[in-house]
Order: sequence, then C-alpha cells, then structure tokens
Amino acid sequence: MEEIRNEVLKWVLTNAVEHNGKADAKSVMGKLIAELPGWKSKIGELSLIVKEVVDEVNSMSSEEQNFQLKKVGAPKKAEHAEKKGLQELPELDRFPLVVTRFAPNPNGPLHLGNARAAILSHEYARKYKGKFILRFEDTNPEKVLLEMYEFIKRDLRWLGMSWDEEYAQSDRIEKYYTCAEQLLGEGKAYVCTCDVEKFRLMRDAGEPCPCRDKSTEENLAGWSKMLSGDVEQGAAVVRIKTDLRHPNPAVRDWPALRVVKTPHPKTGEKFKIWPLYNFSVSIDDHEMGVSHVFRGKEHEGNEQCQRTLFMHLGWDYPVAIQYGRLAIPGAPLSKTQTIQAISGGKLTGFDDVRLATLTALKRRGILPETVRQVILGVGLTLVDSSLSWETLYAQNRKMVDEIASRYFFVQNPVKLMVKNAPDLKEVSLRAHPSRPEAGERILPLERDNGGMGFYISREDCDKIQENGTFRLKDLMNVKMVKKGKVCEAEFESLGIINVPKIHWVSKGALQVEVLTPENEAVKGLAEPAVASLEPGAIVQFERYGFVRIESISPKILAAYSHR
Ligand code: GLU
Repeated sequence: MEEIRNEVLKWVLTNAVEHNGKADAKSVMGKLIAELPGWKSKIGELSLIVKEVVDEVNSMSSEEQNFQLKKVGAPKKAEHAEKKGLQELPELDRFPLVVTRFAPNPNGPLHLGNARAAILSHEYARKYKGKFILRFEDTNPEKVLLEMYEFIKRDLRWLGMSWDEEYAQSDRIEKYYTCAEQLLGEGKAYVCTCDVEKFRLMRDAGEPCPCRDKSTEENLAGWSKMLSGDVEQGAAVVRIKTDLRHPNPAVRDWPALRVVKTPHPKTGEKFKIWPLYNFSVSIDDHEMGVSHVFRGKEHEGNEQCQRTLFMHLGWDYPVAIQYGRLAIPGAPLSKTQTIQAISGGKLTGFDDVRLATLTALKRRGILPETVRQVILGVGLTLVDSSLSWETLYAQNRKMVDEIASRYFFVQNPVKLMVKNAPDLKEVSLRAHPSRPEAGERILPLERDNGGMGFYISREDCDKIQENGTFRLKDLMNVKMVKKGKVCEAEFESLGIINVPKIHWVSKGALQVEVLTPENEAVKGLAEPAVASLEPGAIVQFERYGFVRIESISPKILAAYSHR
C-alpha cells in the first residue's frame, strides 16, 4: 500500500507542477491506469488514495511541490519502459510462475488486431521464463472452422512462437459439465427455461426470474434433461447466480451453458450442451494456472461475469491486463464480413492482399519481426490507438532494406534504341548497394541492328524531352533523339554526370506481374537475374518498391510490399 501511495504521489506532484500548482484527481487516475494497466483491478482503492494525495499536494505551495517532486522523482512512464523492453507485470508475487495463454476462437485467421494478445502473452511468458499456453476456444459449434486450428498455429509459428501446452476446449467438455453440476448442486447456478426476452426485462429491472428459486433437485433434474438431448436449442440455459443489483445488467445471472444442436466440426454430435465463453474461460484459466491475462477492454463486462464465478468457487482471479482498441484504418473487415466476401468471390482468400491478416501480410513481404515490433510499440496502453499502414511499412522498410537484393524493373515498358553505344556485352552490378558480400548480378545488353536495345518505363520516357540527356542507370549517358513507339537515343558518355537517372532492362528481360495492395496486377519487365530467385524472396525492384516473389514458374509473380 505504501508503495502504491508513493507512486501515486509522484504522479500527483507532476500533475500539479504541470498545471499551476493544482493537480486534478481525474486526470491523474486516467494517467495511472493508462501507464499501469495492472492497477485497473484496484480502481476503487486507487481512487481513494489519489483523492487523498491530491488534497495533500494541492494544499502545498508551488515551491514545496517542486521540492517534493525532486525528492520523490518523476514517475516512470510506460513509453520509457517500453523503449527498454516490456513493462514489468504487476502482482508477480502472487504466483510461483508467470503463466499466460493465447485463447483464439478458431473462426478465422489471425490478423494484426488479435495477434496483439498472442504477442503480449508470449513475450511476457518468455520474459519471466514462465509458461505459454495455446488454447482454442471452440465452444461455439456454429462458428468453428475446422481448418483454422492449423491455420492459426501456422500464423503463430510464423510469428516465431512456440507454446508449452495446447488445448481445445471442445476436448474438455466433461470438465465444464462437472463444474456446472457442482454449482447447481450448491445452489450457485440454476436451469432457466424463461424466454430470453422476458428474462432480459426482469433482469434489467433487477428482479429474479421464476426459475431462480428452483430447488437443487429440480435444477439437477433440469440439467439431466438438458444432457439427455430432450431440450430444444434455446429452450434452456444454466445461469450463474449473481447479485441481481449488479450495476452491469449483463452480469446479472449470466448464462453459462446452453443447448446447441448444430454438430461441432470436431466432435460432431457428441455434445449438445456447450459452455459459453465466460464459463469455459474461467474454469480453464483457473485449472491451467493462468497468472496474467491480456485482453482488449471490450472484455470488461465479461471479466465482471468471470469474477462472480471465481468468487462462487473460492478461486483467485488472475491478473487481468486490458488494453485499448487498436484500429487499423483501411482494414475494416470483420471476420464474418471477410468470410462472406471470400465465399462470394469478392476476396480471393484469407491471404487476399487487401486484408490485414497475418497470412496476407506474410504474402506481401511483411516480416514477422515487423509485426512484433509494431505491436510491442503500441504496447499495453488502455487508450485506444491506431496503427497506420505507414507505421507498419516504415518498420518493415527498416528491416528489409538491409537484406533485400536490388533488381531493375520497368513498368509499362517502352522500347529504346541507342545508337553508337560502345561495344559492351553486359554490365555487372552489386546485388545490394551497401553489402558487397551479397555479390553481383549480371545485366546482359542487347545488340540490335547496329544499336543497343533497352526498355524504359513509359513514365520515365514521358519526362524526357527530345534532345534531353539522361543516364541509363549504372551504365551510360544518352541523348533522346526521337520519341515514339520506339524511342531513339544516341550514346554520349559513360562517366556519371548530373542528369536524370532511369532504370532499364535489356537482353533477356523477363515478364513480371506485381500484385498491388489494391489487388491490381501491374505488368512490367525485370532483369534476367530475377529468374534465379526463390519464391518467398523479398527483394527491391529499384525505385518501384519492395516486393515478395510469389512464383517464378510458369509465371513470375510478385506481391507489392511498400516503397
Ligand atoms: N477467446 C476469447 C477471444 O478471442 C479470449 C478472450 C480472453 O482473453 O479471455 O476473444
């Protein structure tokens, strides 16, 4: 407690000094929660301390405030901590081991948004030499997609993750049944057969539904009936008893298990009673010894439900660390919309280059380390944030620039004939400008009717006037003599001079198709060395952008990453 008070004092003093000697309790609370999200579970206690400290600090003279602030030191902001690595986790002393889990629903692939929970959970488990669990939350038979179990694992492996334990909730149904029976037997849950709408009205009014008073025997009989398969979907649920005056109506007597007649893609018709998220997540987090949970703040209401169950069962709730929403402008599709768009043919698949799924990013040459860095850069803040594509690209560029070999690529090619060129057969250029160890590539030159034949891009060609001099990059300077369907130029000199530099291809140029992030195919010609690349290679088409090679044969296809 003393420790918390000291930390609060630092924040309050800073706030007072920055605001003409008057600290504001609300703004201090906001900062504290944003910077130390683990304290969120103690909001009540914390706000009392903050109020007290604000009163104390506001009664000091500003000299005194400055003096005290120097004495206690400025608070450590998350931003600073993040730069050095991950912030420390709160309440470590409550657990013998840090155990985290990533609990995806296998109903779609991972994308930048949900990769956040995976990355944070994994990083923290590794930081504290703890345990990282992968748990598929597949208790909604209507939504589960069978291929997603492997798909998600592939996504995680691509991110460089390994997990110490793996579970699927659909393999653990009996455990949830046992727990449900215990709660029904102890009068902490009941079988509710009320119409959902009617129940909602009573619940919102804070009133019990008629099923709430059923005896243990009646509840157990109702439960047996549910299990026997005799109850129609929607006709009964098991509810957890809570305070009917709970400020959040969604928490009041929340539903824990329901009847689902749709066969489960994994277990078929074996089970017809399925736990709802709050029920199975609670039992699993407890049984698996999860110490710290990372999840979006949209789960706040769920967490309140889960806490009521932990109380009933006398369990300690893990440390729940919430973070704000992460918007990715331009990638607005929800899982359901994505799946619909794929089956309707509007998207080509989960790796459609227009999506922000990890598999689409991979396809476009975004490195897993980039994803990791940008997600860790956003960090644990409770404040909503937005991750722009530019941020992602800038991070990726930093990394691929070092490794990507360079090639000449000419979009919308126009033929250029150069007269009087010296008798060169080829030119050898560095594969990477600053890494000689990356070797050289050869660009053969085409001799054609007494001239030398090239292709340059229509765009470049348009910028050159007749009689204008330009440099065919890394090769020679020429003068444009005549522009037309085939342009004519005249050799001038070899040495570098200050004229526009233009990329070119010549003998053996290869047809290449580059898929843009808008899913449009751009056609062009690339230098012959591209043919020896492997699919998956990330390279730079000079002045055009970074691309990832998708295939070499029968066609050379690439996906565009960014500039
Ligand atoms: N399966 C849940 C989800 O993906 C997990 C949420 C949680 O962390 O509890 O939203």
